[in-house]
Amino acid sequence: MSHESISFRNNVEKMVDRAIESLGLGNNIAKVIKATNSVIQIKFPVLIQGKIQIFCGWWAVHSTHLLPAKGGLRFAPVVNQDEIEALSALMSYKCALADVPFGGAKGGLQIDPKRYNHDELWQITRRFAQELARKGFLNPATNVPAPDMGTGPREMAWIADAYKEMFPEDVNRDAASTGKPINRHGIAGRAEATGRGVQYALQAFFRCADNASTCNGLEGSRIIIQGLGNVGYHAAKFLHAEDGAKIIAIIESDGALVDKENGLAVNEVRKYMGETGGVKGFSGAQFVETSASVLEMDCDILIPAAMEAQITQENANRIKAPVIVEAANAPITFEADEILRNKGKIILPDIFVNAGGVAVSYFEWIHNLSHMRFGRLQRRFEEARGRHTLTAIETLTGQQAPDWMRAELTHGAEEIDLVRSGLDDAIRSSFDAMREIMNKNEKITDYRTAAYAVAINKIAHSYYELGLAMPE
Ligand code: NAD
Repeated sequence: MSHESISFRNNVEKMVDRAIESLGLGNNIAKVIKATNSVIQIKFPVLIQGKIQIFCGWWAVHSTHLLPAKGGLRFAPVVNQDEIEALSALMSYKCALADVPFGGAKGGLQIDPKRYNHDELWQITRRFAQELARKGFLNPATNVPAPDMGTGPREMAWIADAYKEMFPEDVNRDAASTGKPINRHGIAGRAEATGRGVQYALQAFFRCADNASTCNGLEGSRIIIQGLGNVGYHAAKFLHAEDGAKIIAIIESDGALVDKENGLAVNEVRKYMGETGGVKGFSGAQFVETSASVLEMDCDILIPAAMEAQITQENANRIKAPVIVEAANAPITFEADEILRNKGKIILPDIFVNAGGVAVSYFEWIHNLSHMRFGRLQRRFEEARGRHTLTAIETLTGQQAPDWMRAELTHGAEEIDLVRSGLDDAIRSSFDAMREIMNKNEKITDYRTAAYAVAINKIAHSYYELGLAMPE
């Protein structure tokens, strides 16, 4: 539980202030950047099992210097306006850092999705989408939601379909949401994108010479992950299977699983959760009822991938991990961040680490506007060119290329190859931009301030160029 005195939105604003101060930008631009541009609250009735229920949701648009405004749509029992505004601000900074040309937005619906069946959720989601679209807060050109906690490809397909029914003549209607299933105009690699981006963020971090010795890289590193949902599962799976990391603990809502010796079988745990709804009762690992205490266990890398305010001033001093990777949005509060930084912990911040989702959402949006899958025109051409190059090399050298080389050279890029390449580039470029500002500005010594500084610099210049603020 959070012991913090300030709200989620104030937490984000304090991080902005820290970066603005280090950049030497004035108070006026700080005010312009921090303000939420617009927020709508919608209450709508749905007939559920013969009774009317009123649902309450929000869509907050933090910035519109670039459009559409983009953000996840969260279905959770404890959603509120402050949280949605804070998350919409994080989206603005995330997009700016990752060079995704979108403004920031976020949506939320107060609902416990586990309490409703498929048909009820279909009705509720579509009704919410219709309300948003009618009021101009759902539109491929201005406001485009994506999956977040409690929503996934299914809800995104329903939302795009609800929009299509209202505006069938809009040729860009499929771009009304992102994170859709492939069959419903989605893009290869979106479901895994945020977790994949967490992996790329850690790879970029360890590729940097200054960090190479920190816990000796990814191979054999001991990782604790909180939340085995969409983001946490994919991150854990890739870090284990492709980078040789050991997932020594998984923390979930109903308890934690620990196996320090052998590490946990991530796929098995995920399958078990799908069958039972939690981790309790999973055989082959130690079960810890007081799951929050597992955040404090000895490990090399801690990845909170569940929700905000998990590390607060109450438990920050007890965190042992030297590296904390914010796969979730805002899992560390401002006060906890100060405590951890003073203790020399390295924090890779949310707006850098989990930008993979919005980066691939951007690719999906472009794919929807172009009405064509990436790689469709080039793939066979690239294969033929690879074969010709190989034939030329073999003819000139008189030697035959090994099978692996033949396969590599004659492979034309499929959509998934291009998506992963674009995602890796977005994450690496963000990391390089953070390093560059840290090298240039001696006031910036941590990755969070660096990430905010890069993002705010870009947004500030956008406002100056639009005449909405003046350099001070
Ligand atoms: P999800 O609903 O798929 O998974 C969340 C998981 O965390 C669930 O398994 C849930 O049981 C678990 N959980 C919830 N509360 C917990 C607690 N107190 N302790 C331990 N486990 C808990 O959600 P997701 O899409 O994976 O999102 C997770 C985080 O990542 C959120 O902060 C979200 O805003 C952020 N995020 C998601 C995306 C995306 O593409 N889905 C993109 C960027 C950021």
